[in-house]
Amino acid sequence: MSANETTPTPTPASNFILQLIDEHNANGKFAGRVATRFPPEPNGYLHIGHAKSICLNFGIAKKYGGTCNLRFDDTNPSKEEQEYVDSIMDDVRWVGFQWDGLYYASDYFEQIYQWAIVLVKKGKAFVCDQTPDQVRETRGTPNRAGENSPFRDRSVEENLKLFEGMKAGEFADGSRTLRAKIDMGHANINLRDPILYRILRAHHHRTGDKWCIYPMYDWAHGQCDSIEQITHSICTLEFEHHRPLYDWFIRELGIYAPQQIEFSRLNLTYTVMSKRKLLTLVKEKHLSGWDDPRMPTISGLRRRGYTPEAIRAFCERIGVSKYEGTIEMAWLEDALRADLNKKAERRLAVLRPIKVVIDNYPEGQVEELDAVNNPEDPAAGMRKVPFSRVLYIERDDFREDAPKGFFRLAPGKEVRLRWAYFVKCNEVVKDASGNITELRCTYDPATKGGNSPDGRKVKGTIHWVSAKHAIPSEVRLYDHLCKVAFPDEVPEGQDFTVNLNPTSLEVVTAMLEPSLKDVAIGTKVQFERLGYFSVDKDSAPGKLVFNRAVTLADTWAKMEKKGK
Ligand code: ATP
Ligand code: MG
Repeated sequence: MSANETTPTPTPASNFILQLIDEHNANGKFAGRVATRFPPEPNGYLHIGHAKSICLNFGIAKKYGGTCNLRFDDTNPSKEEQEYVDSIMDDVRWVGFQWDGLYYASDYFEQIYQWAIVLVKKGKAFVCDQTPDQVRETRGTPNRAGENSPFRDRSVEENLKLFEGMKAGEFADGSRTLRAKIDMGHANINLRDPILYRILRAHHHRTGDKWCIYPMYDWAHGQCDSIEQITHSICTLEFEHHRPLYDWFIRELGIYAPQQIEFSRLNLTYTVMSKRKLLTLVKEKHLSGWDDPRMPTISGLRRRGYTPEAIRAFCERIGVSKYEGTIEMAWLEDALRADLNKKAERRLAVLRPIKVVIDNYPEGQVEELDAVNNPEDPAAGMRKVPFSRVLYIERDDFREDAPKGFFRLAPGKEVRLRWAYFVKCNEVVKDASGNITELRCTYDPATKGGNSPDGRKVKGTIHWVSAKHAIPSEVRLYDHLCKVAFPDEVPEGQDFTVNLNPTSLEVVTAMLEPSLKDVAIGTKVQFERLGYFSVDKDSAPGKLVFNRAVTLADTWAKMEKKGK
């Protein structure tokens, strides 16, 4: 399966990595020890793909009573920042895990440097004066061997001296590299004398200006794993062909050997997942920031209204395999619905209001009606909702020319107002240009609570808010970030941003029931019939802002069918 097909059925949660660990525990390979790590590069915020890796690594440690470290893979100073380090720690904790050790690859720079000297002394590494372009050009292709560097046969003494010079800042950036001496004809290109160190005068967020040479990912990663005595070094599939190199370094150095295991990365429809692309969205201001609720970042999902439980359930459901595919965004949304259905209290809110006047309801009268907070959770109890003569209902819940099967409000038709009464529409009032300004209705006092006194059938139930009690509030309605399912596929010469959905955000002024007045940032509620919403951090006293986390899609479709 390729990445541009969606995974047809749920992958079972059974997991080849667990089987391998069980084997290792049975054969004593790591003396029954299980130690994993989650190794993000602090060059961006974590996304939902990282959540898969977090759940896997921390989940394994938990399952086997082992340990999981958080290790920042900070070997690339030009792209790394403290802001990212801080956000990553927040996000890991928020997803629900606490690391055992907290480390940085930069903690090990001195040890990794000493190990490079070990390789040089063994005649297994050399200083190369080729430019980065020359190194690339002489690497060969999968079908054609590379060419030896003309500097490959330098003596150990000369290499030691030059490598020290590199470290001491004697040479210009990019003018020399330290390379492993393996085999330029190797079938696996990664073993064709790979670069271990480059010269780079860049300020490092932790080591400052101490170093002007930095280790390459391949040269650092396995050695960090080894220092931390990681047993299972779990990474994504693109590193499968790096494993022989990972093992070569460890073998040549004669140090503790972890087991690298690869699994397929998470791809989701209608969004992009690479940090580089997410950074573009932020830098070019396509979105408001890393935590824009349309971002697939953990901070974006959190702000949108996702819960850690939903994210963990989603990761559990998608499972772990070696097959590359793309998961439907709907699975992620379903996981949130399932969680919030149990937890979120129901409230009445009208997104696109139209005024309803109940002509036979006494002017000035207010009734406090009983409403159930959450039918899925009796412990959530009841609340009162005020009812009065002037109400708002959803513009969409009224049709002047109602088609057959439309069971909501229409001229001459009766509908049930949730928790309140049956009302009937008698007159449609319009302004000079023909826009509907209000609906004149009458109510039946005998239907209080929404019950039919005489068995007469009212199929539709709609939500409403009392106009004089309503709290106007900004509500942000989100759609997919991208307008196509596979936005990474772009026409020649174009950029993935052509696939951004121009209508991914709609802002409305909604009318809310008054019980929402002092609701705290981050609170999640279901607006009945509309979806699950979360209070945004842009809220201030007297000015609420809600994000729609997810619609009620499936439930909604079902209700329409049943005519509710
Ligand atoms: P990106 O390609 O999105 O920039 P990355 O792999 O460079 O991601 P890292 O910070 O190096 O990001 O990732 C930390 C860990 O998370 C790695 O072990 C990586 O394999 C894993 N990871 C990253 N993206 C995904 C994904 N989409 N699905 C599963 N695991 C992922
Ligand atoms: Mg990376």
